[in-house]
Amino acid sequence: MSVLHLDDAELVACVSCGLCLPHCPTYRVTGLEIASPRGRIAAMRAVETGSAPIDATFLRAMDECVQCRGCEAACPSGVQFGHLMEGTRAALPPRGSPFRRAIEWAGYRLVLPRHALLLAFTWVLLVAQRLGLVPKKLGLPRLTRAGLRPLAVPAGGTPDAWMFTGCVMDAWMRDTHRSTATVMRAAGADVACPNRGADCCGALHVHAGRVGDARRLATRTIASMPGTAPVVVNSAGCGAAMKDYGRLLGTDDAAAFSARVHDFSEWLAAQPPLPTKSTGRTVVVQDPCHLRHVQRAHAPVRAVLSGAYALCETDDDALCCGAGGAYAALQPELAGDIRDRKVAALRRAAGSDPVLVASANPGCAMHLRAAGVDVRHPADLIAEVLEGDG
Ligand code: SF4
Ligand code: SF4
Repeated sequence: MSVLHLDDAELVACVSCGLCLPHCPTYRVTGLEIASPRGRIAAMRAVETGSAPIDATFLRAMDECVQCRGCEAACPSGVQFGHLMEGTRAALPPRGSPFRRAIEWAGYRLVLPRHALLLAFTWVLLVAQRLGLVPKKLGLPRLTRAGLRPLAVPAGGTPDAWMFTGCVMDAWMRDTHRSTATVMRAAGADVACPNRGADCCGALHVHAGRVGDARRLATRTIASMPGTAPVVVNSAGCGAAMKDYGRLLGTDDAAAFSARVHDFSEWLAAQPPLPTKSTGRTVVVQDPCHLRHVQRAHAPVRAVLSGAYALCETDDDALCCGAGGAYAALQPELAGDIRDRKVAALRRAAGSDPVLVASANPGCAMHLRAAGVDVRHPADLIAEVLEGDG
């Protein structure tokens, strides 16, 4: 009897060749087979066929996966590791201490789906930051009253393009939304924010195996941006989840919506070039896993930044930085070890310190900032040039 309810064809696709191992951050820092994609798939198979129980070793192997999907991009057999891991997490029983489960419930069920609550919590955080009560190692951006002022972008209507605002990005990095709107308008687009209902896209819920919650949030998000206009998303994790709504919901409407979703740089690269001058500054490009391995949309970042910045590449073949949704909070030691490798790669790429890094994902930005790296969103970097020129 199936225990994890995984797709048999996806589960048997792995031929155990091991070509994915160098692309797995947890294997790279531990050297353990059970912390590799091949080891995790073997463990899933054993549980699925009833030859092994769901025990502490199995749960640990699943929990320690960052879900970066670097293995999926490297796999010559086309193993859909992301689907396997999402399915496995959805099938596992709730675990952790009652306190942790209560915090997770409040976060996933109460705060993220209600943006007003998240904003209220953000004001509390702002005060706590002023009182020095928020540890810097959490990497939260410095919250300010100016940053939290309302966006000067109308909501609803029939725009040329929607700018998805979402949850954490809008609460903690709203200035990046301002930059995104500035750049989109400079590219000639009439931009609008979503109607009510786009509180959260559900990406974090999918990561955590909360598929029912993710489906409810996806349905609301789709309804909040009607019509045929492109949906521009400046968070790589959100964009990846929204491009997968067709599979998540299994409807033609959801698939049609997913086809309208574009990462910010992907959308901008398809517009006539902006008249940006060279700044002479060097930027190291960090590819968020959900932009590179899942959306496969990392090239446009280089296309839109290269007119104004001298770009450097890391030599680590885009290995994950260890952020992974809530992973940095849930697995701080492994996330820190993985980040150490990434920070070293960023410094090697720049050849100097301090390093200015471009990253299109809020989770990666916060995780790297916690290690003292200066991380900016591509939209912020381009808006800065436009505002300087203007
Ligand atoms: S997941 Fe793909 S690359 Fe990794 S061991 Fe299996 S077949 Fe090989
Ligand atoms: S998703 Fe990332 S961390 Fe998980 S097995 Fe694949 S490469 Fe390793």
